Amino acid sequence: MSRDTPRPTPVPLVYHPSYRIRFFGIERLHPFDVRKLERIHDALVERGYALPESFRAGEPIGDTELAAIHDPGYLASLRQPEVLAAVLEVPVPRLLSGLIERRVLAPLRRAVSGTHLAATEALARGGLAVHLGGGFHHARPEGGHGFCPLNDVAWAVHRLRQGGWGGRALVIDTDAHQGDGNHACFAGDEQVHCYSVHQESAFPLPKVPGDLDDGLPDGAGDRELLELLERRLPELFAAAQPALVFHVAGADVLHDDPLTDLRCSVEGLCERDRLVARAGLQRGVPVVHLLAGGYGPSAARAQTRSIQGLLHLDARLR
Ligand SMILES: [Zn+2]
Repeated sequence: MSRDTPRPTPVPLVYHPSYRIRFFGIERLHPFDVRKLERIHDALVERGYALPESFRAGEPIGDTELAAIHDPGYLASLRQPEVLAAVLEVPVPRLLSGLIERRVLAPLRRAVSGTHLAATEALARGGLAVHLGGGFHHARPEGGHGFCPLNDVAWAVHRLRQGGWGGRALVIDTDAHQGDGNHACFAGDEQVHCYSVHQESAFPLPKVPGDLDDGLPDGAGDRELLELLERRLPELFAAAQPALVFHVAGADVLHDDPLTDLRCSVEGLCERDRLVARAGLQRGVPVVHLLAGGYGPSAARAQTRSIQGLLHLDARLR
């Protein structure tokens, strides 16, 4: 190792190789870099931030347990290729439906439990935890859409409560799309405060009101987003009084994302993530960082750099 090689981070990292979802080659038709999470994982290892054995994974969650947060009929329907295809926005051939559970649903079920694992670790150490995945913020109790079949943050909060945790949570969603699923899952839940800042004209339409929403105009970039967050973060922490923060930190705010029209730079995304993490960690509030959406050309590079920055920030603030 050279003098500049970082030590492997003590920050809990959650990831599983199955997160690279394969649709039998059909995924190449989708405008997604399906290898994004794998690329980020590999870069963190190659650059010395993590060892291959640093990453932990959750266990896939079954429908019986998921019925605590999702409608059982909807969960059963996910085994139908046409239902899953509509949620994930890719064609799923009927002939291959027997592989859906193993190739598609099992990795998603594991990713859902990964966010709970990251939350448990963040609370245990009173600091940052990073899930290279999660942030399925469009999944509502009665059904998913927008590439989000199951809601990982709702599952994490449910499981924490089952384990006796009684804290308040703050969901900060800075993905370019509104976190309608999180808003719906936590509607009426006084213990969870949901904030979303997003491109107002983008999916989903219509939007589901959360505790606080900020819609950005088309073409907004670093300045608009970062100035807004600087103002909002103190208000959010004062209103929510959280014991845990979930940051749904999508990369689709980037200028080259094919699905949105926000114009953030790689540096702007890194600064966004640093602002949110610092707001929590400086107040002694653990932060769970979730990668959420955004699969454009520079998404993996941006989120790798962002995570590196967060690991340095965690080391400085501890
Ligand atoms: Zn998104």
